[in-house]
Amino acid sequence: MSVIGKHDGILVAGGGGFIGGHLVAALLADGHTKVRSVDVKPMAEWYQRFDKADNRVLDLKDRAACVEATQGMNYVFNLAADMGGMGFIEFHKADCMLSVLINTHLLMAAKDAKLKRFFFSSSACVYAADKQTDPNVTALKEEDAYPADAEDGYGWEKLFSERMCRHFTEDFGLETRVARYHNVYGPHGTWDGGREKAPAACIRKAIECRDSNHRTVEVWGDGQQTRSFMYIDDCIEGTRKLMDSNLREPVNIGSDELVSIDRLYRIAEEIAGIELEHRYDITKPKGVRGRNSDNTMILRELGWAPSIGLEDGMRKTFAWIDGEMQRARARKRA
Ligand code: NAD
Repeated sequence: MSVIGKHDGILVAGGGGFIGGHLVAALLADGHTKVRSVDVKPMAEWYQRFDKADNRVLDLKDRAACVEATQGMNYVFNLAADMGGMGFIEFHKADCMLSVLINTHLLMAAKDAKLKRFFFSSSACVYAADKQTDPNVTALKEEDAYPADAEDGYGWEKLFSERMCRHFTEDFGLETRVARYHNVYGPHGTWDGGREKAPAACIRKAIECRDSNHRTVEVWGDGQQTRSFMYIDDCIEGTRKLMDSNLREPVNIGSDELVSIDRLYRIAEEIAGIELEHRYDITKPKGVRGRNSDNTMILRELGWAPSIGLEDGMRKTFAWIDGEMQRARARKRA
């Protein structure tokens, strides 16, 4: 049973985004009656919006907005951040770091309002670069974040915000929970425009090739770099289990199914029913050479770890992106 009562106030910061939207959906489906969803984007741009939630457009970089957002709430899930895939974080380091204002002001507001628990969405980008130089990478354990050498910009902001959570617990008694997500994908996420992550980009390109009869595709890097990808349903389940747990340390929430980027493309191509020639562009942002999640801690502490297979998740994501692309084309024609 969850520590969060059905009538407790739950703030989902970043509720107009990918993970936030799915979390709001899951909380409402479970019968939570007081869910507040807050995002800076105009409501028309939210990936998912539910009439049963208290939806508000607020800029959570602003302290007063955080006070308003937390008023009458008991729990906070902070999923708000200015972020995207490698193509975004490589060229928007200052924007990524400015997300520190969101977490700072939300923590201060949560402390002042004496909220019960605060969840922060950190990232595998906090891990030290020298532990990720080989495609056959040893999976990253939580302790590998130190000595610190995080992803420049985005990763440093996450590491700093993690520590702020820790010190808010130690100094002010605010219960905090921190997840280090590893590459989350699924329906109702970004699939074009420059902020999309690798799974959505591979799927979009495979669909474009299928529909235009092109048989070559541009791959960022040499295709040998490796990652693990977690389907959104696992992400939401893990997030909620962590919030309910007594675990005060940052913990990996990520799949440990390691694949190369070439293989990720092949999965998208197989679903599309085509085979593409890969043209490698090594000048494009490619991130670390290899990254995987060590799930020892989450298994020990929560008795659970992500388990949805990549091919299953990619199939569901493909179907959703395909539908979105067909709808976008129909709108253009009309
Ligand atoms: P997303 O971009 O879809 O959602 C983030 C939302 O935050 C957006 O809707 C954005 O408009 C909102 N936001 C940004 N600035 C804001 C502000 N000032 N005030 C209010 N809202 C603001 O991203 P996501 O994939 O849903 O990620 C959610 C969280 O998980 C982020 O903290 C992200 O860094 C973290 N994370 C995600 C992944 C992943 O693979 N998706 C991996 C690691 C960590």
